Amino acid sequence: MTKPYQRPSADEPAWWFICSAGELTLDNDDLPPHGRLQDLPMPELDDYQVVWLGELRERSCYLVVADLNDDAFSALGEFKSLRPLVAAQDEALFMMASRAKQVTEFLTTHRYCGRCGTRMQAVDWELAMQCHACQHRCYPRISPCIIVAIRKGDKILLARGERHRPGLYSVLAGFVEAGESLEQTLAREVMEEAGIEVKNLQYVCSQPWPFPNSLMMGFTAEWAAGDLHFDPFELEDGDWYSFDALPDIPLPGTIAHNLIQAVKAQIDRESSA
Ligand SMILES: [Zn+2]
Repeated sequence: MTKPYQRPSADEPAWWFICSAGELTLDNDDLPPHGRLQDLPMPELDDYQVVWLGELRERSCYLVVADLNDDAFSALGEFKSLRPLVAAQDEALFMMASRAKQVTEFLTTHRYCGRCGTRMQAVDWELAMQCHACQHRCYPRISPCIIVAIRKGDKILLARGERHRPGLYSVLAGFVEAGESLEQTLAREVMEEAGIEVKNLQYVCSQPWPFPNSLMMGFTAEWAAGDLHFDPFELEDGDWYSFDALPDIPLPGTIAHNLIQAVKAQIDRESSA
């Protein structure tokens, strides 16, 4: 990110991420508007904060920070949650939409300095807000989380979270606390939520998750000791499941799904070896 406030030209085909209150303007196919500014039914952008986000399929992506309940963009689509984009499994589009949502959240919550209360200004060469009274500088907040798929023999631990949709079972996850390593977070969360110890951690992959600003860091691990005791404030139910009798699990496109598949691949490799 070297040119966050580069202005779009009227004849440059681009993607338009029009964001307000955590939602994005999406058309009937759940895509953000795409095309040349001069061809789109777009209001005058001088009144809006516009941020260059990067490129998607060789086109620039611009964030337009819309007002709450702003109807100036209604000819382009409706404000919708980003969740349909997860289900669509277009990873590059989802990641750009995540960025748009998180940058909007950052810009709209850092108008004033948290240290001295002065109005902040955007830094012109990086995505940051600066207070010129006390020099405090802020960057978009990213909240790291661990997410871990744990196996015991040829079974996997899946549990039902309080906030999950009915019937859904998933792997364990939790936020990194200040001063913790990922390994410490993982051991603490698994002990707190399920009452067990784990070993043989393997990093698998990560996924930004913009609800509101997580970075999910995904691992697999193996059971080491202890019986399952779920934290009733976090989890309603859970167990070790065989892969031939899995409950309803998270959709493809989610990191939880990828980690469950990673455990299955480990078990399949061992049984064919
Ligand atoms: Zn300040």
